[in-house]
Amino acid sequence: MIKKAVALYSGGLDSLLAAAIIKKQGIEVIGLHCILPSVDPAINPDSLKASQLASQINLPLVFYRCDDEYANVIAHPKHGYGKNANPCIDCKIFFLQKAKEYMEKLNASFVITGEVVGQRPMSQYKSMLKHIEKECGLEGLLVRPLSAKLLPPTYPEQEGIVDRNKLYAIAGRSRDKQFELAQEFGITQFQSPAGGCFLTMPQLASRVKDVIAHPPFNALDLFLANVGRHYRLHEHAKIIVARNENECTILQRYKQTADFFVEPSFKGPVIYGKGTILQSDYPVLAQMLARYGKPAPDENSVALFIMGQHTATLTADNPVDDTTLSKMRI
Ligand code: SF4
Repeated sequence: MIKKAVALYSGGLDSLLAAAIIKKQGIEVIGLHCILPSVDPAINPDSLKASQLASQINLPLVFYRCDDEYANVIAHPKHGYGKNANPCIDCKIFFLQKAKEYMEKLNASFVITGEVVGQRPMSQYKSMLKHIEKECGLEGLLVRPLSAKLLPPTYPEQEGIVDRNKLYAIAGRSRDKQFELAQEFGITQFQSPAGGCFLTMPQLASRVKDVIAHPPFNALDLFLANVGRHYRLHEHAKIIVARNENECTILQRYKQTADFFVEPSFKGPVIYGKGTILQSDYPVLAQMLARYGKPAPDENSVALFIMGQHTATLTADNPVDDTTLSKMRI
């Protein structure tokens, strides 16, 4: 076996420690950072916080940006969802399958994760760890340095590539041992373990589920679930209304991917639309902009673009009311 491993790296303390423990044994480790769809596709991965944190342990990184393949996993999770729109088991399996792909591509011989037995509900209990390992085709090749002594020896341990005696037997939710190890490895900064990703957030779950319920969709639609106010006009059309200048810039950036797009001539938000817009929807679009923008009586025109073509000019002089809004809110 080659003394080279791919570490599934999130930027959290456990993944930093797992990589550091194996590196300390003189094994080459490359971190694989999977970038979730909640990160703007326009962002350079090197500028991400997780990338900067990896430098504390001199961990070189490769990046996988969650794409439509991942979107498909979110839409049809074999093991179901957690409390919100988070299919944690399928997500974990998917990331490990990616780690396996990179392991083969980078000519490494095993994969490392920062998983700890019994630390989290659902995906990290001992039997589930075993199941996940099998499903992702990494049986015997998945080293979990923080809990390794509580698990059967892996091939790298059996073959003496990894010294099992220098691995740990951490279990449960307490983080004391990890903080102690962080000091030992000079790790002073890491991302908070508490959170969970955007799919675990109740306020975003309904948006993500709405995206999934209205195919076709892609990874960009999952990113846009994090942007603006979302309203469903009817079964065939949804709109995203920017809340501030930054969101206007983001929605403008992806204008070409919208099915329809609305821009006011006055100070106000843009609207990004998905689906089929009907002529009977035009008034509510103008009313949205009258509500969230600041149209002057003499300057209240709104341009509607369908598939990038300017198709209508509307007048925004009548703000949409609260009842209509709450009925449409996703
Ligand atoms: S919290 Fe999000 S990123 Fe983490 S395993 Fe669950 S779905 Fe995947």
